[in-house]
Amino acid sequence: MELKRENLEPKLFAFDIDGVVADTMGTFIEIATQEYGIQGLRKENITSYWLEKCLPVPEEIVWEIVDKIIKDPFDIGLRPIEGAVEGLMGFYEQTGALTFVTARPEKEGIEAWLRERLSPVPPEAIRVVATGLHEKKAEVLRHQGFHYFVEDNLDTVRQLCDQGIGAVVFDQPWNREETPFRRVFSWEDLLKLAGIR
Ligand SMILES: [Mg+2]
Repeated sequence: MELKRENLEPKLFAFDIDGVVADTMGTFIEIATQEYGIQGLRKENITSYWLEKCLPVPEEIVWEIVDKIIKDPFDIGLRPIEGAVEGLMGFYEQTGALTFVTARPEKEGIEAWLRERLSPVPPEAIRVVATGLHEKKAEVLRHQGFHYFVEDNLDTVRQLCDQGIGAVVFDQPWNREETPFRRVFSWEDLLKLAGIR
């Protein structure tokens, strides 16, 4: 008898955006280098979610750059993470809709960016909820019936798990602590976890 893989139902997944779908940290480094002349920054050096703690960039500049990234993802040239577009297309083919929950304060810019990047998906099938706070993600997910959430911030993963959401860590240099949580190393991994590939 063939062993059945324990797959997680694709339609029960929702996704974080920054650090999971959008290469926000990569873009941060590009802006810091090109516009502020700060040299030698590498994504591998981002070992904390708090950039000013791990990069030689003053806190005011961190906030200035983060502000630019939040305001206009097109203007700053935000790019998707490798495999994210194909991965999300894979989920969409199974589910007919994609839901993103972000702690960004507003959804407009990033929703337009996602719709453009995922253009074969009809815009109305892409939904973004902007909570403004990491702490509100669990409540939103629970109310909307999602069981799994793909997230790169370990503090949020802990909160979600405490509140009964099966958070999956999307591996990044800033979340490589030893934890009991399920972890994926790529979008390819995530598709396997959901039994799509
Ligand atoms: Mg994130």
